[in-house]
Amino acid sequence: MTDPLYDVLVLGAGPGGYAAAIRAGQLGLRTVVVESAQLGGTCLNVGCIPSKALIHAADTFAAAVRSSAGSDPMGIRAGTPSIDLAATVAWKDRMVGRLSSGIGALLARAGVTTVTGWGRVLDGKTVEVESDGPHPPRLLQARNLVLATGSRPVELPGLPFGGPVATSTDALAWCDLPDDLVVVGGGYIGLELGTAFAKLGTAVTVVEATDRLLPSFDASLVPPIERRMRQLGCTVLTRTKVTGQTATGVRTLAADGTAGELTAGRVLVAVGRAPSVEGWGLDDLDLDRDGPFVRIDDRCRTSMTGVYAVGDLTGDPMLAHRAIAQGRLVAEVIAGQPRRWDNVCIPEVVFTDPELVCVGMTPEQARQADVDTIEASFPYTASGRASTTADPSGFVHLVARRHDHVLLGVQGVGAQMSELSATFGLALEMGARLEDLAGTIVAHPTRAEALQEAALAALGAPMHV
Ligand code: FAD
Ligand code: NAD
Repeated sequence: MTDPLYDVLVLGAGPGGYAAAIRAGQLGLRTVVVESAQLGGTCLNVGCIPSKALIHAADTFAAAVRSSAGSDPMGIRAGTPSIDLAATVAWKDRMVGRLSSGIGALLARAGVTTVTGWGRVLDGKTVEVESDGPHPPRLLQARNLVLATGSRPVELPGLPFGGPVATSTDALAWCDLPDDLVVVGGGYIGLELGTAFAKLGTAVTVVEATDRLLPSFDASLVPPIERRMRQLGCTVLTRTKVTGQTATGVRTLAADGTAGELTAGRVLVAVGRAPSVEGWGLDDLDLDRDGPFVRIDDRCRTSMTGVYAVGDLTGDPMLAHRAIAQGRLVAEVIAGQPRRWDNVCIPEVVFTDPELVCVGMTPEQARQADVDTIEASFPYTASGRASTTADPSGFVHLVARRHDHVLLGVQGVGAQMSELSATFGLALEMGARLEDLAGTIVAHPTRAEALQEAALAALGAPMHV
């Protein structure tokens, strides 16, 4: 059976794909989206949303544990807490199901046709969709094709997934708590989920190949996170790799050649993600690539006319908000609008304890670009609001151009920093100067005052000592 000719066919309904399809539908383009699994992709089903749900549950549990241990500085005392992880997972699944249905409703409201099944691109205009059941494959044709197949976890040689060796997807579905857990990779997933499991009572060991945790971020941001992990009883092994499994755990090899073994009931492998490029006909398309990724230009166009790509398939940073922004952009480009990728920044947020944020240029990047800069910080120990929450760890650090005071970047670590990332991003996109930040009246007492305080310090008029 062949459907009518569509204007746009989107392959994959993760954040990149569903954003593209919804926007294309809203713009009056006849659109179809093909998805083999649940609407919402990695982010909604096994990524951003379930991981933040687990982190929130773990934070709530950890606060109860503190109170029951009599160590809550605010004087709150509680009985012995317990957690029913199966109930937590069921709560998370209901919430994800509701949000996934919401995406279905948004697609329907935009007039988009949703087809469930595995899509295989036959040429730049035709996709064959195989569904479960005895039906013959369905052929879909479109003038424009948007590739949004996302990414998958990287597997390590010697540590195949299965049994005790888990992906983040497996870990987010665990209904019982491991006594001990080795986390391979001290990046985004390793630290977000490792910290959450430590708060729930698991003995966590993080094994990181480089010389420090979160190696893709400025080193100054990491100590408060590592300190908190150690308080939670986590062991951190840097300059160490996991080389294989043993009967009771894993084998390790340190950079100095020392071999070791770790006991582990379970192992979470979080050493990065690779684009999903297999099994759907990419090799037959002969598109230009950047390593494993599909190469795109600033309009999300690939090297083949009428074929576009968005999201994790197109490279780093593999973040949902980048995929969503690309998805909206690609629909507007296909509709003939004069759009191009001209964003100043893509915020990076790690939902550790405390949270880490990096928006725009780091001081090091500014130095490498030979920019003459001013830098200033504000420590949360000097924040009234942070003190009222009994969590004054962390700081905000900004970098601005010296000659015109235009903000170049903000980094920080502290509680609720993820929410502040929006303010930092807005300031950067608006081309704010230090005087704008210093002169904006910010509600007191809030954690958001930190940016204003850092700007005042940069201008030589600090309010804090
Ligand atoms: P995906 O979300 O991977 O979606 C691709 C979709 O395409 C999938 O649904 C897949 O089933 C479908 N598909 C693939 N091939 C085919 C085919 N041939 N036929 C039909 N369907 C197909 N990012 C953040 O910004 N913030 C976070 O807090 C965050 N937390 C994360 C936590 C975890 C544990 C993980 C794993 C990731 C996290 N990410 C986070 C990253 C984020 O999930 C991804 O960047 C985002 O999902 C990428 O969107 P995408 O649309 O490119 O691809
Ligand atoms: P990552 O790139 O963040 O971290 C991987 C870590 O593993 C790195 O520190 C790396 O040095 C280390 N590593 C690599 N090989 C190793 C080995 N053999 N032994 C020990 N360590 C090794 O990757 P991730 O944590 O798997 O996350 C994948 C991607 O998902 C992220 O890059 C990010 O784009 C996205 N993500 C984002 C968020 C968020 O926005 N809050 C959360 C989770 C995931």
